[in-house]
Amino acid sequence: MLFPLVRDIRSLSPKNQDVTVRGWVRTRREMKNLVFIEVNDGSSLTGIQCVFDRGGGGNAGAGAGAKEGNTAGTLAALGTGASVEIRGRLVPSPAAGQDVEVAVSEIAVLGPAPAESYPLQKKHHSLEFLREIAHLRARTTTFGAVARVRSNLAFAVHRFFRERGFLYLHTPVITSNDAEGAGAMFRVTTLDPSVKPESGYGGDFFGRAAYLTVSGQLEAETYACALSRVYTFGPAFRAENSNTVRHLAEFWMIEPEMAFASLEDDMDLAEDFLKSLFTAALEDCARDIAFFDKHFSGEHAGKGIAGTLEEAAASRFVRMTYTEAVRELEKAADSFEYRPRWGCDLQSEHEKFLTEKVAGGPVIVTSYPKEIKAFYMKMNDDEKTVRAMDVLVPRLGEIIGGSQREDDPLKLSRRMEELGMKTDNYFWYLDLRRYGSVPHSGFGLGFERLIQYVTGMINIRDVIPYPRAAGQAEF
Ligand code: ATP
Ligand code: MN
Repeated sequence: MLFPLVRDIRSLSPKNQDVTVRGWVRTRREMKNLVFIEVNDGSSLTGIQCVFDRGGGGNAGAGAGAKEGNTAGTLAALGTGASVEIRGRLVPSPAAGQDVEVAVSEIAVLGPAPAESYPLQKKHHSLEFLREIAHLRARTTTFGAVARVRSNLAFAVHRFFRERGFLYLHTPVITSNDAEGAGAMFRVTTLDPSVKPESGYGGDFFGRAAYLTVSGQLEAETYACALSRVYTFGPAFRAENSNTVRHLAEFWMIEPEMAFASLEDDMDLAEDFLKSLFTAALEDCARDIAFFDKHFSGEHAGKGIAGTLEEAAASRFVRMTYTEAVRELEKAADSFEYRPRWGCDLQSEHEKFLTEKVAGGPVIVTSYPKEIKAFYMKMNDDEKTVRAMDVLVPRLGEIIGGSQREDDPLKLSRRMEELGMKTDNYFWYLDLRRYGSVPHSGFGLGFERLIQYVTGMINIRDVIPYPRAAGQAEF
């Protein structure tokens, strides 16, 4: 049987029942004969206060972890970070901010955490320092909250698609598509690194060059063109050498793909999806979001994190074409490091300007020049722009990138040839257009960018347990 978590114990009613609290000591203070021990097991933003009365009948040390009743020894080992099993009665708490506390009858220290070496002694550590002890940072309030929001929103992603008839699809992590253009790839090989392959990669494990996937989209398209609505939710890998606060080398991406769907359908889906995730964060993670709102609202001018999410969830996202966006940017050309120019990709400073200054909230930009977008996007009638859409949000810039896919086999193969791609390798992708082709659309949401947005964490390395980036693969 699973034992009750701190989260469950905190909400127990009626009070005055016997409980056992298992967790790690967050803080311990003493006042006269009373020892106040805050214990958390990570199931709740705040732990539960356990009060041991040295003068009372409590028996520190007699629990499961200790052979002999040794009150002094147990109390000495009861420092921050120690794991404990505490028995007692749940009683109404006189302290502010909590309904209940535990009047302790028995304490057992399962694993002490010596104060001289345990790195999480102080109440506040910098995020930079905590990144160096990523194996312990989940024990802090902030990283516990990030982990709970991540888990709840992952669940909300599945719920959203399931309710709308999308099938959850597992696309391969190892792939031989090398020209998607989404980002630099990591090669997967079993060849001896000291021997240069004489004749390509024929002798390699897969008999050809193989890579870690940058996106499951192309494979997802094949299933959308059979099962109508699918989505992937898996890791993507990009050998990004840019050291930014919004890029990782390994991140999680959600990629819905719909058949019989236009770019407008795609934008509607993206907007509904984000709003439902913002609402899920507010409803399913209310206490954690309130914590981020209080401590990480810095960059959310005025409204705070919760206010920003509420407003975005209730708003209608502004939609504009790339051409309109560039015109807006040109009006403020002097305020940018990079001059906005039609034909150039939007820089992150431009994306932020459009959301923060022009729209005051999320923006969907459509119809980008074909040169700055991927080969598979459907060409507009002007033959210059493609049916692409990016969803931009304040603070972060791009959070979603999507498009209607080219469904005309001739136009698609012509575009691939223009770009010097080997169409032979993509026979299967072209087959979708040769046999029963349908208009279809989809997008990719970076899960970590979503978590950054809803928590207010500035650095993407702080919203994934073990970030992988250039020069960083520890743990
Ligand atoms: P950016 O311009 O921000 O580098 P992109 O246009 O290269 O992103 P897409 O190929 O459109 O990205 O990928 C879809 C989504 O995946 C992006 O909108 C973003 O949310 C996320 N994403 C892309 N690259 C990364 C990365 N290196 N780390 C984390 N998330 C990423
Ligand atoms: Mn993009």
